[in-house]
Amino acid sequence: MKFTPEHKALRKTVRDFVEKELNPYIDEWEEAGEYPIHEVFKKLGNLGLLGIQKPEEYGGMGLDYSYNLVAAEEFGRTLCGGVPLSIGVQTDMCTPAIARFGSDELKRDFLAPAIAGDMVGCIGVSEVGAGSDVAGLKTTAKKDGDDYIINGSKMWITNSPKADFICLLANTSDDKPHKNKSLIVVPMNSPGISFSNHLNKLGMRSTETAQVFFDDVRVPQRNRIGAEGTGFMMQMMQFQEERMWAAANMILALEGCVEKTIEYCRERKTFGQPLIDNQVIHFCFAELQTEIEALRALTYEACELHVNGKDATRLASMAKLKAGRLGREVTDSCLQYWGGMGYMWDNPLSRAYRDVRLASIGGGADEIMLGIICKMMGTLPGKRKD
Ligand SMILES: Cc1cc2nc3c(=O)[nH]c(=O)nc-3n(C[C@H](O)[C@H](O)[C@H](O)COP(=O)(O)OP(=O)(O)OC[C@H]3O[C@@H](n4cnc5c(N)ncnc54)[C@H](O)[C@@H]3O)c2cc1C
Repeated sequence: MKFTPEHKALRKTVRDFVEKELNPYIDEWEEAGEYPIHEVFKKLGNLGLLGIQKPEEYGGMGLDYSYNLVAAEEFGRTLCGGVPLSIGVQTDMCTPAIARFGSDELKRDFLAPAIAGDMVGCIGVSEVGAGSDVAGLKTTAKKDGDDYIINGSKMWITNSPKADFICLLANTSDDKPHKNKSLIVVPMNSPGISFSNHLNKLGMRSTETAQVFFDDVRVPQRNRIGAEGTGFMMQMMQFQEERMWAAANMILALEGCVEKTIEYCRERKTFGQPLIDNQVIHFCFAELQTEIEALRALTYEACELHVNGKDATRLASMAKLKAGRLGREVTDSCLQYWGGMGYMWDNPLSRAYRDVRLASIGGGADEIMLGIICKMMGTLPGKRKD
């Protein structure tokens, strides 16, 4: 990937934003279990950072995905995983399908305000009984005149308690599971929507996550994104950007863990010498940094394919898989060298250890990525090429 001066300028803008507007408040937000999302999104919107890749006519910058990737990477410098996740939901999870397939009206009513930071969005795919198996979801949107009536529930929905709209995947017919789904934009103030209490999570503490219930929620059919029955396909496309975003966001977060731990190991002495002077320890940092560079190369390669209009599914799935696995390896290895300090709740490595764990579960678990990679390698039973 060749980065231009414009990529570098964008990197600096995001880096400055993280340093000035996010990091000084992260401890407070993690403790509170929430952050002022509308306020933060408005500031991001004013800088154009919520619409990097979105069309200019709706307030976006109209740049290609490589710029989005650079921003995702830089948001990895945030001193927690929760706030970047929440931003990624807005930019790369609940708005790509609206931008690509939505009507002008949907773009005007939901995309433009999301880009400006005037509206917070969330993505509603997972359900209690259908996380990995997206095709098995049960929420329905049944036609009634010009409207849909929605019934069901969505589980673990990031940003939902403060969101203004949800990009909802629901069954709109009794056709086969891959052909009966549509993506529908539902305003969160619609009568019939209610929430569980905030879910008490292992990590990502500063984001709000809840179960969302739909009880006879009426929404106009014109809020459907694209043609009826194409929601599953659109969501699978939307997942590609979500997965590249997740991989890119991991890179600098993990480098930060290694850097902080090196610093600590230079200071901390055992048996009369700094921890870092033990070969087992400095070799470990060399191994981890090598792996991080490998993640970076893989993620950039996936991005390059995507930018060039080629199918990045295979490499994006590999990058997501690698990010999840490496996130666990780096945070676990680094936490070890902080000893008892690393086991304390407020220690930066302890937070990273908890936050990165989601990467192997959310947005398609490691095993789902392996299944996709196998399918593309032609090694899945029933799909073998020979
Ligand atoms: C903090 C948080 C935030 C989230 N935010 C959102 C959100 O904003 N919107 C949204 O829609 N969803 C969200 N999710 C949901 C997330 O995407 C799902 O949890 C994820 O897709 C896994 O689904 P599941 O939990 O139902 O696990 P299951 O499908 O029950 O799978 C459990 C485990 O089994 C394994 N497994 C599953 N299938 C296979 C298989 N075929 N072969 C081998 N192993 C397998 C995997 O290891 C998986 O982790 C969030 C989840 C969390 C925890």
